[in-house]
Amino acid sequence: MPGVLLYFFVAAAGATIGSFVNVCIHRLPRRLSVVRPRSACPACRRPIAWYDNIPVLSYVLLRGRCRNCRAPISWAYPAVEASTALLFALLFARHGISPDFVLRSLLSAALVALIVIDARHQILPDAITLPGIVFGLVSSPLRADGTIHPVRDALIGCALGYAIPWTINACYLLWQGARGVPKQRREDGIGQGDFKLLAMIGAFLGPRLLLFTIFFGAISGAVYGVAMIVFRGHGWKSKLPFGVFLGAAALLALFVGEPWVGWYAGLLGLAR
Ligand SMILES: [Zn+2]
Repeated sequence: MPGVLLYFFVAAAGATIGSFVNVCIHRLPRRLSVVRPRSACPACRRPIAWYDNIPVLSYVLLRGRCRNCRAPISWAYPAVEASTALLFALLFARHGISPDFVLRSLLSAALVALIVIDARHQILPDAITLPGIVFGLVSSPLRADGTIHPVRDALIGCALGYAIPWTINACYLLWQGARGVPKQRREDGIGQGDFKLLAMIGAFLGPRLLLFTIFFGAISGAVYGVAMIVFRGHGWKSKLPFGVFLGAAALLALFVGEPWVGWYAGLLGLAR
């Protein structure tokens, strides 16, 4: 069955990209090169042989331990590889062999990397978001996802993606000023990294799916924040890895964003 075989190849490509996503997750926050050296066991430093570096499969065969020193390997590695494999397969089911499939798959891999890095380190590396913005804009003429003006959409999405959180943050800083908080003690409500993340999402997906992302990202982030305050005793001022929620909302937008936006626009009596 060629269909099944095609899905297998797509999932394998996704898992392989996921393997590279793991390298980015591990090295970018430490400011290390993602190209060299070869991957090594964090415990015994021994380089990992190619046959022990097969996405998902090697983890299962090695039962989650280093072949050399038997140190446990984090389940996060195969989980990231399986996630990108699944995302690639789902996007393939939706878009078939098309530029949209390739572009959205690359975006989803970048989002997985950013979600995990933000959850662990509370940063969103420029090394992913800035090339992401450029690539999203440059590749926009290839998009065929029903947009009539893909280039204009990408430019507006990118600009709004930066401007909306920037404006909210500027208002928050002004509000702190109005309450008499000294300049050096005023805090960002939304991080700079989130501006760039949303600019990247807007460049890839245009303004409609950007608004979907901000809406669901903000709601899920708020629910999580309140839950942490109520159930875990966190303070009102504790930091929220907002990029995790925005990234997850953007992944959701890839699959349900368009019908949802269409439905919502219909509700408001707006033409799409
Ligand atoms: Zn080892």
